[in-house]
Amino acid sequence: MFTGEIPGGSEELDDIQWDVAQAAELYGIDRWGNDYFALNDDGLVVAKTLNADVPILDIVKGLAERDLHMPVLLRIENILDAQLFRLNNAFREAIKGAGYQNIYRGVYPVKVNQQAQVVEEIADFGKRYQHGFEVGSKPELIAALSALEEPGSLIICNGYKDSEFIELGLQASKLGFICIFVIETPTELPIIIERSRALGVSPCIGVRVKMTTRVSGHWNTTSGDRSVFGLTTSQLIDVVDQLKREDMLDCLQLLHCHLGSQIPNIRDIRGGIVEACRYYADLRREGAALSYIDLGGGLAVDYTGASNSGEQSRNYSLEEYCADVVETIRDTLDEYGVPHPTIVTESGRATVAYSSVLLFNILDVNLFEPTQSEPFREDEHPQISQMREVLEYLSQESAQECFNDAHFHRQEVRELFRRGQIDLRTRAVAENLFLEILHGVVAQTETMDRVPTDLEGLKTSLADIYYGNFSLFQSLPDIWAIDQLFPIMPIHRLEEVPTRQAVLADITCDCDGKIDRFIDPVESSNKTLSLHALKDGEEYYLGVFLVGAYQETLGDLHNLFGDTNVVSVRLNRDGSYEFVKEIHGDTVADVLSYVEYDPKDVLLRYRNTAERAVREGRITVRERQQIVKRFSESLQGYTYYEKEVY
Ligand SMILES: *Cc1c(COP(=O)(O)O)cnc(C)c1O
Repeated sequence: MFTGEIPGGSEELDDIQWDVAQAAELYGIDRWGNDYFALNDDGLVVAKTLNADVPILDIVKGLAERDLHMPVLLRIENILDAQLFRLNNAFREAIKGAGYQNIYRGVYPVKVNQQAQVVEEIADFGKRYQHGFEVGSKPELIAALSALEEPGSLIICNGYKDSEFIELGLQASKLGFICIFVIETPTELPIIIERSRALGVSPCIGVRVKMTTRVSGHWNTTSGDRSVFGLTTSQLIDVVDQLKREDMLDCLQLLHCHLGSQIPNIRDIRGGIVEACRYYADLRREGAALSYIDLGGGLAVDYTGASNSGEQSRNYSLEEYCADVVETIRDTLDEYGVPHPTIVTESGRATVAYSSVLLFNILDVNLFEPTQSEPFREDEHPQISQMREVLEYLSQESAQECFNDAHFHRQEVRELFRRGQIDLRTRAVAENLFLEILHGVVAQTETMDRVPTDLEGLKTSLADIYYGNFSLFQSLPDIWAIDQLFPIMPIHRLEEVPTRQAVLADITCDCDGKIDRFIDPVESSNKTLSLHALKDGEEYYLGVFLVGAYQETLGDLHNLFGDTNVVSVRLNRDGSYEFVKEIHGDTVADVLSYVEYDPKDVLLRYRNTAERAVREGRITVRERQQIVKRFSESLQGYTYYEKEVY
């Protein structure tokens, strides 16, 4: 945590000691970066893996040369690859260390990021570990089946399954995949029995149990008695009895539980595993041929970098998680003399979060700062003179009083304006003086031992608004929907002191399209973000990090801003990089067609309107041509703000 003062005005800059290490501290990049992101000596954020590190700014330049404009969702393949390795390797090490008598098999829950690129990369990089998929619907199953090549990989089928879903899964088993149907409700079982007999395939069946272990964090309703998921104990007995009657108890191979996503506290995870093991042991005793224990998701991402049990953090490392899972299962089942099962986890968030970064440029800044003060005039309004006086008697002792007076005078001025007794220019002078007083008050609070309650949020309320070229609703829906925090920071200029305090606004015209909570490893969250002042003629780029999980398909078309450009890069050993895939974002025509417009018809109608204008003599034929051409080009253009060179 950066504890020094952040200077307010540029005149102080020369006195400030600032280096890249302080920037790293301020933005916490070494805490949340997970060794994938760091700062280099030139003040640039680099993406790195074992052998390579590449400044993200270099990639941005490469994008511009390829006509891929901001905002861009950047996917870094190596990070996904490395994360799959870390997960599988950590389990392998934990199993070795604990003398555990079975193996680990990971599956990736497709719902966390269903994009073809991501699913295909996971299938590809995961092949070495037979990493499989968890699916919750027919489209997800079909996506997984099209991506997986490695026989022996697991496909865990959750969710409500009709006979078509089950038939698809049974046929996949014929191809060599281990497709396990996890029963979420007792009504699914007869369909599985009927379809498997009809196709002559013995089904692999799992049961999802309702966990009573409550966990902290945002998703704590996934567990507990009222959880909508899983079988109650009497339903579970019913399933066992049905299978017994059909002489199919040997098909019951997997016990599934999922405590929730982003579980910050390792103790909750351990408690859940103990409960799951109890079910496991007793179902074995009932005669089930269980050989897999599936613990679902929940492995958290440390978004704030605080390494604590706050909702957006976690109080454990990946290695600790794996060791705890393995040892808890070993110890609990050893007590009952039950052989160790294959351990399955469905980590989604922790697998994909790190590999995507949302990049955007800043379009404009709104400063809440006084402009040049108006010189004193003999004939000025008494309210204005009184506001000048407030500035004169401002001191640390009078700060609260001056704050009150400023508000009083501004209110008076606004009232006079409303009644037509002062003009717009006078009001503008008063508003400017008001800002001048407030900034003076803030300066006084900086050195106070105890800041009065009224003045506490004052600095934040004077923060700049930086307008970013992105849509919160399209690209970062969880910030809006569930107050998710993501690390956000400039990707360059970090060798310079960031002198501004800002909140971010997107380009939708929605008052919810803003970001005014930021990570802070110590305070848990901050109301403003430290940024650099914009420079004329130079772009300023920000990155929102760890956005690979859950953001892409939950996003919507608010204001008809469409999908952003997406680029996958691979970092090379020599510090170069290559664009593996690029997907141009939605055009205006694309988003219009999503809401049932026909772009051809849209163009035709406008052309008719223009033609009518020609007929009626409002425009010339030449103008009509230009108007229609512009319209047609815009239909094919990007939905975000484009800086055009004329
Ligand atoms: C959402 C979900 C997951 C993924 O959870 P993460 O916390 O993202 O790892 C895993 N399993 C099931 C059943 C889920 O519903």
